[in-house]
Amino acid sequence: MADKFRIVIVGGGVAGLALATRLGNSVGRTGRAEITLVDKSFAHVWKPMLHCFAAGTAANENDRISFMSQASRHHFDFWPGEITALDRKARTISLAPITDPLSGKPVVDARSLGYDALVLALGSRANDFGTPGVAEHCLFIDNLVDANGFNDRFRMELLRAFANHQELDIAIVGGGATGTQLAAELHKALDIASLYSFGEKPPRLRITLLEAGPRILPAFPESVSEAASRQLEAIGVTVRTSAMVSGADEEGFILKDGSRVPARLRVWAAGVKAPDVTHRFDGLRLSRSGQLEVRPTLQVMDDDHIFAMGDCAFITEGPVAPTAQAARQQAHHLARTLPAWMNGGTLAPFSFHNKGAVVALGDYNGWGTFPGGSVFGGGWLRGISARMVHLMLYRQHQFELYGPVRGTISCLVDWLDMFVRPSVRLD
Ligand SMILES: Cc1cc2nc3c(=O)[nH]c(=O)nc-3n(C[C@H](O)[C@H](O)[C@H](O)COP(=O)(O)OP(=O)(O)OC[C@H]3O[C@@H](n4cnc5c(N)ncnc54)[C@H](O)[C@@H]3O)c2cc1C
Repeated sequence: MADKFRIVIVGGGVAGLALATRLGNSVGRTGRAEITLVDKSFAHVWKPMLHCFAAGTAANENDRISFMSQASRHHFDFWPGEITALDRKARTISLAPITDPLSGKPVVDARSLGYDALVLALGSRANDFGTPGVAEHCLFIDNLVDANGFNDRFRMELLRAFANHQELDIAIVGGGATGTQLAAELHKALDIASLYSFGEKPPRLRITLLEAGPRILPAFPESVSEAASRQLEAIGVTVRTSAMVSGADEEGFILKDGSRVPARLRVWAAGVKAPDVTHRFDGLRLSRSGQLEVRPTLQVMDDDHIFAMGDCAFITEGPVAPTAQAARQQAHHLARTLPAWMNGGTLAPFSFHNKGAVVALGDYNGWGTFPGGSVFGGGWLRGISARMVHLMLYRQHQFELYGPVRGTISCLVDWLDMFVRPSVRLD
């Protein structure tokens, strides 16, 4: 073992960055451990906001947190890199070479990094279940690059529809929180953008939300699903449930009953699977969707020195839904238990405390549920309370990472920004 206990965290998302920051502030600051965060990108974004970046209703340049800056303030190291494999015997991970995106030439060679404890927090992506044509013809919003790519296409297609006095057809597969919120957010984007269209009539958006199950938002009570469907229909979104997609091409989606849903923009926001790289993790046991199977201590099944948390982990004895809430709680749990374990202590099991769920349909409405089964939002408040809770979850995350002073300044900057920039991305 090296002089200091080496904790390597791979993935700086909701779970990974919270853990790196907390461990950095404890065992990193006192010098008891050397903490290294590895991520394939250079900045953290709060993934539950990706649909807002995709629609252009939030500016990601304000909401990104630089990993290097966070590391220097919270006593951990950051290495950019994409994990490609791990060697359990040698206790090393392999990182892919880094290439210059402009020239395509290598900038940093492939490397390996040693660990005494490895925490995998790689997140997840949508699962197309191998549906023909989806990989080639659909857009995804699994990360910031995808969300920005979608926004570029969305603005170009809006321009085309605007200039040619056409309608713009968009079809979204997946009636979970991601697809449902994206549908509403795209409408909100057009509503705001219309204010800048110099009196010209804006193009009409025809959004179709396709869900294979009997109702949208299946994680919420039926009353919320019904109210959300009504709200979406009221703003012009067509909601189609029990609509099983069997393929996609450049003209739209093909349903199992043989009918077609035409769409210039096709988005796949259904299913969840772990990144494919988990299949190269030295035989670690995986769930059907490629998540790393873990014990209640969050250690993987066959190796005490490897942990997994967040969307990429599957707790075999009590699976929890892949949400930011679960990812955050798992990070807090490991931040509490790892320091004692490093010194020979035992690891306590993780238990999930369901604090409820919130969904926000743009500025139109929103709902929240509490564990007891009660629902709030909707009705005459037009969901303001639920939307505020949604926003507060993000602020809470920011405050945890930034601390109270920088967290407050960041809120103020965002608020002042509203007076300077348009509230939708126009360029
Ligand atoms: C549009 C959208 C809306 C959502 N809304 C909600 C919501 O309202 N409420 C809620 O609770 N949840 C919501 N979720 C789900 C929530 O975002 C996830 O459950 C949460 O982000 C999981 O956290 P994580 O740390 O496991 O993964 P992530 O936050 O996804 O972070 C994974 C990190 O790993 C890095 N990474 C991936 N592969 C590699 C690799 N090979 N090498 C190095 N680094 C790698 C990524 O760059 C990323 O930084 C939403 C998700 C989406 C997409």
